[in-house]
Amino acid sequence: MNGFKDECGVMGVLGDNEASHLVYLGLYALQHRGQEACGIVTVDDDKQGKVLRSHKQFGLVSDGFNKDILSRLTGRLGVGHVRYSTTGGNLVQNIQPIVYQSSENGSIVLAHNGNLTNAETIRKELEASGSIFTSTSDTEVISHLIAKSKKATVKEKLISALQQVKGGYSLVVAAEETLYAVRDPYGLRPLVLGKKGNAWIVASESCALDLIDARFVREIKPGEFLILKEGQEEASEFPFEKKPEAFCSFEPIYFSRPDSTQNGSAVYIQRKRMGEILAKEYPTQADVVVAIPDSGVPMAIGYSQATGIPLELGLIRNHYVGRTFIEPSQAIRDFGVKLKLNAIEGVLKGKRVVVIDDSIVRGTTSTKIVRMLREAGAKEIHFRVGSPPITHSCFYGVDTPDRKKLLAAQITVDKIRDLLGADSLGYLSNAGLKEALSDKSQGYCMACFTGNYPEDICAPISKQPTDADGPGYFASK
Ligand code: AMP
Ligand code: SF4
Repeated sequence: MNGFKDECGVMGVLGDNEASHLVYLGLYALQHRGQEACGIVTVDDDKQGKVLRSHKQFGLVSDGFNKDILSRLTGRLGVGHVRYSTTGGNLVQNIQPIVYQSSENGSIVLAHNGNLTNAETIRKELEASGSIFTSTSDTEVISHLIAKSKKATVKEKLISALQQVKGGYSLVVAAEETLYAVRDPYGLRPLVLGKKGNAWIVASESCALDLIDARFVREIKPGEFLILKEGQEEASEFPFEKKPEAFCSFEPIYFSRPDSTQNGSAVYIQRKRMGEILAKEYPTQADVVVAIPDSGVPMAIGYSQATGIPLELGLIRNHYVGRTFIEPSQAIRDFGVKLKLNAIEGVLKGKRVVVIDDSIVRGTTSTKIVRMLREAGAKEIHFRVGSPPITHSCFYGVDTPDRKKLLAAQITVDKIRDLLGADSLGYLSNAGLKEALSDKSQGYCMACFTGNYPEDICAPISKQPTDADGPGYFASK
């Protein structure tokens, strides 16, 4: 069921002669959402009608795109995608945007962020009735459902396809002269609307709009089906069954960039609040606060400001290696922590240190960091985590591993502290997380901490650490 996991970023531009260049720059800003592969497809006109131009590659946006490639990608409509996947495989056919062409529907270009929870079931049904899939990506299910639809227009076909899928999707679709932007009814993954001059821009995060000097118009709403055409006002429909809002809380904790705005607040501010609340929940006698860069930094600033304990850069990150989580094999991941971070002895020696990270997933990073801090002479290490214990896997597009590999699903907070070798360990409570995210109008998915999935994925499984809707995730020597 959890066969396809995608962490992705999407970008769409309509109404600019330099659409491919703008998409390319936007993908640079969204690179943190996926480093395995990227692609841009543009829609242009020639004598025969619409023509698609495409470039897809493995690796970073900066690895392959160049001036020649971008100038070949002509057209005023373009869609781009950055992708990181584990299962589903690193096949070239899986690189998005995916393209579906037929004489009846013309050409349809899709870029998807999220994970469809019923993709495998639909795929089996479609294959049984003769559909031939060319990739293992769940997104291809959408194009096959479009192809099968008996509705009259591409717009209606797209809606009817999406009415059949479940799970999380933020989708950008280019069809003929139209750009569609759609969010699933829960609003699990982010998607924003912008304008640059007269051109429409759609992107996973607002930081992509900033980079191209586009104006932030608004966030696309959960369940919204947005139709964008050149020179026209946006047209909005809500064709899906209404669901309770469930924006992924892991976006502000870890995944999104701190300079993006989500639910009306900068992610940086939300992360800082997580640190402030962590300080309230677990006051600690210490000499110095140290962040595990990068996502731990705003939390550590919040913790330091709330307690008055000075913040120091005790761990320095080498920015020329990718995220360690990104390498799929455990052996490389182990090695990767040292490749990425180094401790400064002068800051840590003889000190009582509060060290802050955004999350503990498998526990590889935190174990190695505690060891690194000890080797640098830290006298006491108080590990603080800006999110509650992760006890359940994600089915909606964030690559958390199987429950068997989730440390907090396997052992108690006390045992985790022991394994880490920390003097104390405190995780943000569920209530603290809600308070940090506090936006009265916004519902959040917190299923990886609670097991309460927005959809009926599986019954919540009781977890090891006692669930306390107050500061209950604490252990000390
Ligand atoms: P681990 O060593 O598995 O406990 O990894 C925890 C570290 O990975 C934390 O420092 C997070 O910043 C980072 N992290 C958490 N979730 C993800 C994710 N879905 N993708 C990549 N990195 C992540
Ligand atoms: Fe986000 Fe966790 Fe919900 Fe997945 S299960 S969408 S990571 S909050």
